[in-house]
Amino acid sequence: MLGLSTKIEDVPKIGGIYQKRLKKFGIKTVQDLLFHFPSRYDDFSEIIKISRARQRLNEVVCVQGRITEIESKHTFKKWMSMTEAVVEDETGEVKVIWFNQPYIIKALKEDDCVCMAGKISHYKEGIYLNNPSFERINDIGENDELTHTGRIVPVYPETRGVTSKWLRYIIKPLLYRFAEQMPESLPKEIIKKYKFLPIQEAIWQLHFPESFEHADAAKARFSFEELFLIQLNVLKQKIKLMQKRAPECKMDADLMKQFTDSLPFQLTDSQKRCAFAILKDLEKSVPMSRLLEGDVGSGKTVVAAMAALSVVKNGHQVAFLAPTEILAKQHFKSIANLLKETDINLGLLTGKDARICKNTAKGEGQAEVFEVSKKSFLGDLESGQINIAIGTHSLIQKGVEFKDLGLVIVDEQHRFGVEQRDELIKGKKLVPHLLSMTATPIPRTLALTIYGDLDLSLIDEMPKDRKKIKTVIVEPSQRKESYKFIEKEVKEGKGVFVICPKIDSEATKLQAAKSKGEVVGSLSAQTGFIPQNYNLGALAVQEVKAVKEEYERLSKDVFPDLRITMLHGKMKAKEKELIMLDFQKGEIDILVSTSVVEVGVDVPRATIMMIEGAERFGLSQLHQFRGRVGRNDMQSYCFLFTTSPDQLNRKRLKALVESSNGFELAQKDLEIRGPGSLYGTQQWGIGDMAMQGLSNIFLVEKTRQAAKEILEKDPELKDYPNLKERLKAFQQRIHFE
Ligand code: ADP
Ligand code: MG
Repeated sequence: MLGLSTKIEDVPKIGGIYQKRLKKFGIKTVQDLLFHFPSRYDDFSEIIKISRARQRLNEVVCVQGRITEIESKHTFKKWMSMTEAVVEDETGEVKVIWFNQPYIIKALKEDDCVCMAGKISHYKEGIYLNNPSFERINDIGENDELTHTGRIVPVYPETRGVTSKWLRYIIKPLLYRFAEQMPESLPKEIIKKYKFLPIQEAIWQLHFPESFEHADAAKARFSFEELFLIQLNVLKQKIKLMQKRAPECKMDADLMKQFTDSLPFQLTDSQKRCAFAILKDLEKSVPMSRLLEGDVGSGKTVVAAMAALSVVKNGHQVAFLAPTEILAKQHFKSIANLLKETDINLGLLTGKDARICKNTAKGEGQAEVFEVSKKSFLGDLESGQINIAIGTHSLIQKGVEFKDLGLVIVDEQHRFGVEQRDELIKGKKLVPHLLSMTATPIPRTLALTIYGDLDLSLIDEMPKDRKKIKTVIVEPSQRKESYKFIEKEVKEGKGVFVICPKIDSEATKLQAAKSKGEVVGSLSAQTGFIPQNYNLGALAVQEVKAVKEEYERLSKDVFPDLRITMLHGKMKAKEKELIMLDFQKGEIDILVSTSVVEVGVDVPRATIMMIEGAERFGLSQLHQFRGRVGRNDMQSYCFLFTTSPDQLNRKRLKALVESSNGFELAQKDLEIRGPGSLYGTQQWGIGDMAMQGLSNIFLVEKTRQAAKEILEKDPELKDYPNLKERLKAFQQRIHFE
């Protein structure tokens, strides 16, 4: 018996290849298929007579007729197949041409009646219907059962190997069979309050709408529902956490003063405010979940160090997670440096490396750092010898035990820690506090949904000694001049970053298609974002190639006298670390790199950021790159090299020249490129409906309120079994970062 939970393997007409392809984007059951929503519609609803179609040159029209002739041929060069037909109704006839669809000759024959939707184009002997969508009908005028033409037709998100036509062909019969049985997942009171369509009707109207008004009504319901599910999920987690206990860490005001006095600079007011909020949170027995947000270079690390110091002084351990080995090592160094006047022991654990730093509290910066075996490191961690453990994901792998973990700090991975916190407690009574740090500005709507269970602290000012980074768009004709300038700066002892974009073939293809004026469905390459099903391995190779080429070019042709080195993801961690050290020490002048330096790396002597193919990156990302320089009181520069004459690209790059505010730039990204451009959203696995909803603050607030109300009344959703089911399925699908 087929049901909503039937696996796609058991659905007739879905063969092995399609099963695989569907699973790739998370479709496993009949229900998943029905919840795979169209991203837009084609309006083929007006069917016209063939004689009238002749007056609609270059427009998309829908006609019906009987095939009087059909044949297949190859064009003279044999590289393209063509199927030509003549179709007539009682008012006249029209030629039809399909390119490169050789199967059509098998699907259609003379005397068949067809309904077709396509563009009326012109060729030397007259007009023709160009590559139309088509379906067979029993007779001209028979319009009730149309699926692909003669109606508002759903177009599904572009996915390799699964066409919209195929999905319509599969989904429609399933709707006939199952729409009626769909359990209503939204609570009755919500349906009533917002006058939503019931699910059984909404699901039909979303896939095969009667009118655009119907489609909008269905969309309104499902965007509400998707956001509502996100909110329920986030708030449920929050409630769960509130019932747990965390170690209370008393704030020692004298100790904090002593610490801040030991710094070579004064904290900004923002840093003080954020540190205070965090230290106050740590005093409570309710586990802290706080997101510390601040532009690159705003000084988050020192705030994190204060939190760590307080927790260690209360007798607990701290885990500090960084996204890459380079960053873990850098944090190890800078935290060791910040805490050099204490007696706190630090540990560093990455893929293969383990190091310990013993501070002696002599205040002479005489900390001892030595390499240890992984085994002895783990021993020290378990016995509590190591107070602060810094590392990559290897810190939360099996076999890593803390004696008494009181705080987890996570750099640049947003939600990462929330889900991984469970990993770290492993049966212990107490839950550690969580501090997550990010330089990615988070718009209010996201803060209220995806990050709705986190409290927010904002560092919204830069250290006072910072000079504004001069940002310049460099035209091809100005290249030489910039190189001269760079050479002069290097001779004065400054360091230069060069970032290369990925040269992926997709981008080249898209660029070519765009310049020919074709409509481009996916913006992935231009925007520097990678679609879900992209081959990442191939991409990495391309990226390395770009770096190598740029490196060769710069060291042979442009700066033969300077010391240039490259850095990319294919290198060993050790190798990368040595290069970063050399660069920090001033033994390398120019570092040519992939986007690995995007987050966090601190090289104060670097004052020039040079970005090749700047138009390929998103504004937030460019802003992050720019944040790698300007880390002290010297004047720094960001050169945006671009060859793209595209006006929109120009506008984006100009925004970067004009603004040094990460929030403003993220907002611009959001306006120009949509929510999909925001960090992480591509990987979250939330649907288009929720994605669109995320830019609507009213909807976000409404769903948050609704989720709160229902959970206050019924935290376990006992009275809402259908909703509970949906939430469960939803939780399996999403994975926020
Ligand atoms: P981010 O917020 O990007 O992680 P960091 O914490 O790495 O920034 O700080 C960037 C640099 O600024 C570091 O070298 C740090 O020592 C320095 N710094 C931090 N706070 C201040 C301050 N209040 N005044 C001057 N320099 C500061
Ligand atoms: Mg940082």
